[in-house]
Amino acid sequence: MLVMRTDKSFIIRNKENGMQIKSILNSIEKQQGFVYDSARWCMHAGQRAIEIAIHPRKGSRPACSGCGKRCPGYDTLPTRRFEFVPLWNIKVFFVHAPRRCNCPRCGIKVERLPWAKGKSHLTTSYAWFFAGWARRLT
Ligand SMILES: [Zn+2]
Repeated sequence: MLVMRTDKSFIIRNKENGMQIKSILNSIEKQQGFVYDSARWCMHAGQRAIEIAIHPRKGSRPACSGCGKRCPGYDTLPTRRFEFVPLWNIKVFFVHAPRRCNCPRCGIKVERLPWAKGKSHLTTSYAWFFAGWARRLT
């Protein structure tokens, strides 16, 4: 069921399991140490878009972006959006609040995210998707 939020964006009530995108993602693109939350509608630049929250798997420690080792958590940064491959020309975003970890070698570092490189706002999958199209067009 579509429910309008106070900001006029829509969400899908998850009780009815409106969107199975979560299960699709789990089968095609599992993220080690993370779990997908249910997909829901949101508005992005005046267009309907889909957002999927990603949470750390319970008990999983963040991986240091410097050396890749799992380290104790330090704190959590504000939520960021990562653009994923669009579905039927609808933008898809992963939403995640990156953790910082206290690495014995590198110090306080943002965690390494399996779906994006460095400070990129694109998921690696979307970057590859783009690269594929660019090759096809030339
Ligand atoms: Zn490190």
